[in-house]
Amino acid sequence: MLQQTQVKTVIPYFKKFVNEFPDLRSLSKSSENKILKLWEGLGYYRRARNLLSTSKILDKKYNFKLPKKLIEIKKLPGIGDYTANALLGLVHDKPTIAVDGNVKRIFSRLLNKKENKINFDQFIDINKKKFFYSKRNSDFVEALMEFGALICKPKDPQCKICNLNRNCKYFNSIKKIKNNKNITIENKNYDVFCYINKKKQIALTKKNNLGFLNQFSLPKIRETKKDIVSRDWKFLKKYKKSISNKKLNINLYYKFSNKKPSSFIWCSMEKNKKFIPTFTKKIFKQVSILF
Ligand code: SF4
Repeated sequence: MLQQTQVKTVIPYFKKFVNEFPDLRSLSKSSENKILKLWEGLGYYRRARNLLSTSKILDKKYNFKLPKKLIEIKKLPGIGDYTANALLGLVHDKPTIAVDGNVKRIFSRLLNKKENKINFDQFIDINKKKFFYSKRNSDFVEALMEFGALICKPKDPQCKICNLNRNCKYFNSIKKIKNNKNITIENKNYDVFCYINKKKQIALTKKNNLGFLNQFSLPKIRETKKDIVSRDWKFLKKYKKSISNKKLNINLYYKFSNKKPSSFIWCSMEKNKKFIPTFTKKIFKQVSILF
């Protein structure tokens, strides 16, 4: 009844139908006319005729039992691959997945791959130990249907409450994009003043009071132009650097000097056994052009 038809439309017809035919036996004894009358308004009447024919075949050939082989189930009128697998799982508890649009959507989101890029038979086969370990195969078939209808819906999937979200590549990719959108890029202007001497040494300090760069050995850095640039400072270069969510616009100044402030240490720009942060190395590179 649910083929091509919404659940809410089917419910009253289903109730009437199972009330009239509570089992296969009663259905098989019915007539096409009676069945079509009950089906009236639901459309796709071939479904009703197929149901009646199937019930009669199950009576004659299988003593009202559903066959246990997929190939035999598929021979019954109106039963294709999807319905046959669903029946095999639901009725006989066989390890199988009824692959319809819902299941394709769920797997394609979990893998974050387009449906046409997934070989579903192969995917199920590779993962069969994970899918069918519990011996509750009929529950699994049912659960996938419910999961696709209520949680991993075509529009507006309920990822926040989804039990699979930690392992879902689609959800994690969306989360990453959202997180990136939430990061505000801070633009900062810095004037960097380098004391250098003729021995190719540069004076570095950890006392710049710049928060995020404080643990590193750096030249003298001051934020904004308000800081005094003594006449002896020479402008060398303007360049850009990104550190996490900060975009730094750097104006590099230098001064050849044998003196440096007391909190600084001289540091060779060529050979250095100390850890030198990338930011400082970049400055070394810029300043080295002076030699
Ligand atoms: S996290 Fe979202 S997209 Fe992924 S399986 Fe769950 S509901 Fe579907």
